[in-house]
Amino acid sequence: MKGVERIEEIYREVIRRNPGEAEFHQAVKEVLETLGPVLDKHPEYAEHKIIERICEPERQLIFRVPWQDDRGEVQIARGFRVGFNSALGPYKGGIRFHPSVYLGIVKFLGFEQIFKNALTGLPIGGAKGGADFDPKGRSDGEIMRFCQSFMTTLYHYIGEFTDVPAGDIGVGAREIGYLFGQYKRITNRYESGVLTGKNPSWGGALVRREATGFGTVYFTQEMLLARGEGLEGKTCVVSGSGNVAIYAIEKLQQLGARVVGCSDSNGVIYDEGGIDLPLLKQLKEVERCRISRYSEIRSGSRYIERGRLWDIPCQVALPCATQNELDETAARKLVANGCIAVGEGANMPTTPGGVRVFQSAGIAYGPGKAANAGGVATSALEMQQNASRDAWTFEHTEKRLHEIMQNIHRDCFETAREFNSPGNYVIGANIVGFKRVAEAMLAFGVI
Ligand code: NDP
Repeated sequence: MKGVERIEEIYREVIRRNPGEAEFHQAVKEVLETLGPVLDKHPEYAEHKIIERICEPERQLIFRVPWQDDRGEVQIARGFRVGFNSALGPYKGGIRFHPSVYLGIVKFLGFEQIFKNALTGLPIGGAKGGADFDPKGRSDGEIMRFCQSFMTTLYHYIGEFTDVPAGDIGVGAREIGYLFGQYKRITNRYESGVLTGKNPSWGGALVRREATGFGTVYFTQEMLLARGEGLEGKTCVVSGSGNVAIYAIEKLQQLGARVVGCSDSNGVIYDEGGIDLPLLKQLKEVERCRISRYSEIRSGSRYIERGRLWDIPCQVALPCATQNELDETAARKLVANGCIAVGEGANMPTTPGGVRVFQSAGIAYGPGKAANAGGVATSALEMQQNASRDAWTFEHTEKRLHEIMQNIHRDCFETAREFNSPGNYVIGANIVGFKRVAEAMLAFGVI
């Protein structure tokens, strides 16, 4: 049977075994449809059912998270942790707190994470977790009690050699602090390596906070350099205004680009003079308010309620908010307005139709699993520092991050060429990541 036919069969089986998990189906399809030529070249992967095994998580945990709000009312959320693949190292991947979280979202993110982590070249497996808890508008005390309850079940299943969670949407340094505090209290162990994204004053790595955003910009810069272009002087838009977006904006500005737009789930900020980053940080990181507040303070900027960020003319677009936020219509608009590069800071932010538009327009398109791998790579550097009880400088860690992103770009670029698809980073990223995991799985036998 030819590789592509085999892949179609595997995909049909994935849909049958995982009904109702649309995001997971989408993520699997996007990877599988690029692997046909790899199976043709490596019949041993088909013989040992490597793809079938990769599509089935090694373990999936669903648990009750009861907690009390400030009025004393009992609330119940649902927690998840999916250990997808540990061929290359302990499970590694973030935790998301957002009302949209369900098993299909956690599995899509965990599946992506396998290949992303492999791309970093560092010893980490793929996982993801979260809860359908909405942190918006919750007090600090409520967030703390929720994190403590979440960890009270999760701690049984994690550990520095088993599973190492980190942050994601709705989980930043504050939440990691509460989670770590509860783990330490229950286990009677100061096990720094059990969580990453910690505050640098108690075991975290410098640059981890910045890493996903910085890394996305480095990757985008590499894509542009490969085409004889650079970021200097380019007009950019960045969606979201959370951790990834803020530090993508910071690095873009450092490299001489002008960022004229960002957003949250309620609306869009358009600031032709360039986003005032200290103001944005103050509002989002310190005051934790909505982005609409920005236009009330910054003269010359505009807030557009329910606005469409991708309608703002730009040369570089970085989707850094959430999955499927950039559809076919938005992609067409970007291309028509002269956009030449898209680097995904978020996971799977572009719909399949949007990806097709970018690819047929021939613009540089960096998929999330390659472009945003800097976050997890720096988490792996945090694990290295924890294991050796060391703490590196900002400069040293950022240099390592930059080199890792350059290497990821080079590996994807060269592999795409090897498989007759020059410039196609989707094909390059999927094949590089898949082959690394497949080789390890073959070595371990049927497990
Ligand atoms: P944050 O919670 O810090 O920020 C998320 C931002 O995206 C907020 O501005 C939020 O707006 C917006 N957003 C979230 N959900 C939606 C939605 N449904 N529609 C529109 N906007 C939305 O998360 P991060 O910055 O950490 O994560 C952003 C993306 O990057 C996610 O896809 C995540 O998986 C990915 N990522 C994160 C990494 C990390 O290191 N943090 C690593 C690799 C990938 P609002 O406040 O209104 O909800």
